Amino acid sequence: MASYEFEFSPKELLRLLFFKKICPYCTKKLIKVKDRTFLDRGWYRMNGSSYYGNQYHLKFYYYCNNCSKNIQLNELRHRKFFNDL
Ligand SMILES: [Zn+2]
Repeated sequence: MASYEFEFSPKELLRLLFFKKICPYCTKKLIKVKDRTFLDRGWYRMNGSSYYGNQYHLKFYYYCNNCSKNIQLNELRHRKFFNDL
């Protein structure tokens, strides 16, 4: 078993769910990247039960193949593209 903790601000969560995942520089489609950081090995609780295993910190960011750039959630922009619809 392994546990994952997510760390999103409410704003970042909105971006993750609703923003178009396109590059703010070239407007090409972005690739979602999972960034997993090992935190600790030990006991943790999940759904009322105790488990022993690795604990990870998980966050997401995006990658643009075209620009070879990592795009963080807070760099996603959508207002401009919505205006274009
Ligand atoms: Zn790009």
